[in-house]
Amino acid sequence: MGATTRPVRIGTSLRIGGGAPVAIQSMCATKTRDVDATVAQAEALRAAGAAIVRIACDSDAEAEALAAIRRQTTVPLSVDLQENYRLAARVAPHVDKIRYNPGHLYHLEPGRPVAEKVAFIAAAAREHGCAIRIGVNCGSVDPEMMRRYPNDSVQAMVESALMHCDLLDRLGFNAYVVSLKDSDPRHVREGNRRFAARRPDVPLHLGLTEAGLPPGGVIRSRLALEPLLAEGLGDTLRISLTVPNDRKIEEVIEGRRLVEDVRQGRFTAPPDAADRLVIISCPSCSRVENDRFVDLAEKVRAMTTYARHHDISIAVMGCRVNGPGETDDADLGLWCGPVSVNLKRKGEPIGSFGYEEVLVRLKAELDALIARRKSS
Ligand code: SF4
Repeated sequence: MGATTRPVRIGTSLRIGGGAPVAIQSMCATKTRDVDATVAQAEALRAAGAAIVRIACDSDAEAEALAAIRRQTTVPLSVDLQENYRLAARVAPHVDKIRYNPGHLYHLEPGRPVAEKVAFIAAAAREHGCAIRIGVNCGSVDPEMMRRYPNDSVQAMVESALMHCDLLDRLGFNAYVVSLKDSDPRHVREGNRRFAARRPDVPLHLGLTEAGLPPGGVIRSRLALEPLLAEGLGDTLRISLTVPNDRKIEEVIEGRRLVEDVRQGRFTAPPDAADRLVIISCPSCSRVENDRFVDLAEKVRAMTTYARHHDISIAVMGCRVNGPGETDDADLGLWCGPVSVNLKRKGEPIGSFGYEEVLVRLKAELDALIARRKSS
C-alpha cells in the first residue's frame, strides 16, 4: 500500500510507507501512570498484531511513567501529545514516534508562534530519532483554518495538514506521517483523497475518529477506510472502538481483518439504511475521566434504539480534553467529567448530570428533538 509515499522509519524494526505492508496501530486506554497495566496492555496489543502502540501523555508524571514503560516493553511506542507540546522534549528519549495535534498547539503559550512550537517538537524528535505524526482531528481543527474555510471543514483539515507538512519540510525534517480523522466516513474519504492529491509523497495514517461501539463502529470504519485502501491510499491505520480495556485488542483484530479483506477484494455491505441514528463515541484512552464511560456509551445505545429511524447524531466522549470540542457538531452531545456528565444540544451546554440521571435527561432531549422535527 502507499507505494508512492516515502518510507518513514519507526524505531529500529518498522517502516511505514514506501510500499511497506499497512501497519496496524492501537492505543492504550489504561492510566499512563499505571505502568504495569499499561505495559500489559501494550504487550497484549502487540500479541494481537499491533505494530505500534500509542500512549497518551499530558503531564510530567506521565512522562516519567513513560520512561518506566519503555524499560519494560520493546513494542514500538508512539506518544500522544495534546495541549502540552513542551512534553516532547521529556518523552522523546522513550518513544519512537510523537503525535501532535495542530489544533491543540494554540493552548499553551498562546503568544508563541506555532512555527516555533513545531520546531521545538521537531528538534526533540530529531535528537532522539523519533518520527512525527501530524494528527489533524475534526473536533479540534486549527481555528485559523476554520475561519478561512467556514463552509468546508474537510478543506480546513487538509490545509492545516499541508501547512504543518510545510513547516516540517522547511526544518528539513521529513520523517513524518499525516492523519486526517473525522467522525463522518465521507469526510475521512474526502479529506484523505484531497490531501494525497496534493502530497502523494507523505505516508497516511488512516482512521475514523470516535467510530463508536462494535459492531457499528467497525462498519462505519470500514465505510471510511475500505475505499481508500482499495485506491492504494493508507500506510498505517487504527480502528478506534469504544470497548472495555480487556477487549482493546479488538481494534487490532478488526484492523488486520480489514486490511486482509481489502487485499482479497472483500468489501463490507452498506449498513442497514433504515438505521439513521448515529452514535459516535471515542475509544477512550488514559485521559478518560471515569471508568463508567464505556458503560455509559453502551447504555446510550440501548436507550436510543427506539429512535434509530431518525436522522439524529449523538456524541459520547470520555474526557474534557477532546469532549467539549468533539461534541459540538452532534445534535446531542455528552462528555464525561469525574463525577458527572456534561450534556449539550447542538453545541450549547444544557447542564451537568450524574451518570444515571443523564440518561433520563438525554431521553427527554431526544423526545423533544423528534417532536420538533415532526412539527416543523
Ligand atoms: S475523548 Fe478523551 S478519553 Fe476519549 S479518546 Fe479522546 S482524549 Fe481519550
